[in-house]
Amino acid sequence: MPGPGAYLIGEEEIKEVLEVLQSRYLFRYGDLSDKNFKQKVYTLEKEFAEYCGAGYALATSSGSGSLLVSLLALGIQPGDEVIVPAYTFVATYSSAIFAGAVPVLCEIDESLTLDPEAVETKITSKTKAIVPVHMLGNPCRMDAIMDIAGRHGLLVLEDACQAAGGSYKGKKLGTIGRMGAFSLNIFKTITTGDGGMIVTDDKGLYTRAFALHDQGHTPNRAGVQVGRRSILGLNFRVNELSGAVALAQLRKLDRILETLRSKKTKFKQSIANVPGVSFRTLPDPAGECATLCTVLFDSAEKAGRVARTLGTTTVDQSGWHVYANMEHVNRYLKEAGQPYGKGAYPRTDNILSRAINISVGVVDAGLGAAFGININSSDAEIRQKAESFIRACKE
Ligand SMILES: *Cc1c(COP(=O)(O)O)cnc(C)c1O
Repeated sequence: MPGPGAYLIGEEEIKEVLEVLQSRYLFRYGDLSDKNFKQKVYTLEKEFAEYCGAGYALATSSGSGSLLVSLLALGIQPGDEVIVPAYTFVATYSSAIFAGAVPVLCEIDESLTLDPEAVETKITSKTKAIVPVHMLGNPCRMDAIMDIAGRHGLLVLEDACQAAGGSYKGKKLGTIGRMGAFSLNIFKTITTGDGGMIVTDDKGLYTRAFALHDQGHTPNRAGVQVGRRSILGLNFRVNELSGAVALAQLRKLDRILETLRSKKTKFKQSIANVPGVSFRTLPDPAGECATLCTVLFDSAEKAGRVARTLGTTTVDQSGWHVYANMEHVNRYLKEAGQPYGKGAYPRTDNILSRAINISVGVVDAGLGAAFGININSSDAEIRQKAESFIRACKE
């Protein structure tokens, strides 16, 4: 039950992978003058940077790896505070924790993304960065967030793991803050099974991120000598097989988004007039990925009843995407003296308890999106699902 890219794996991915296997060059580095070396990861990075309109792109082994490498590249130090939304996937928190920082949770608004006004109240002398998450493919209110960051001298790392290809006021998500992190796992807009991307316009940050992701090396291991590496890195590299699939998927991204937007519009129009049902706010409707359609009810009771009828859950029940459900993170927050556990972020609790995620392209029970359509759904299926939803609301 994956994301839209996974539904569209076909001839293009097979061709790219076969080229790599036939060449027998599986490592991302090779002799660029050797025609046998297919340069899939190099090409992916080049095309992803161009697609996003970013100066640099770096492929990694996961979205979590992209977040950790980016935080470290930005110079996040032990004890620093990083402001994150109370509704996100667990990796937004765990990457900050692994960087030694304290994730400071912050209320969301009815876009289900970070509420900029609430961010302002969370800033202390220890705050170093804000990590807005473009949750469920929906861009955050980036103008307001960048304005706050500017006034307080804070770094912005966009967690665009669920939002590859989305945009805000004409800029691709991930390119508005200092750095942007993406995931290519199976539930995301495009996929290579597991993988990630980082984008930035800053050459210095790119160089640091590259070194951190590959044992301290300079970009593409050009001209590095033993004894001259300045940064201690680790290994978050991606290999040519993953690079090959990601490349084929990237080339389908615009078609994926176009299809999802058109199917979502049809679904949404069919349920638009149901009494007591509204939709989450979209800070830039033209730029959202349309992977999900999130509906909001007047009350948690009503949302719970409808969710049960549809065989799904309200968003507050969706496991590791809701702070209150993250046992290990709660333990950490308690030790760090931060609010933790259900009730700590009442506005977020309230919104999520009234919300149901209906799948459009991402079909994932873990996101609370077990009910809905997928990228291949016909008009008849879209109508039928809309009718089921309307019926459930009337019961
Ligand atoms: C998926 C996701 C991640 C982590 O990505 P992985 O590739 O699974 O490591 C991080 N943040 C958000 C918001 C995500 O949805």
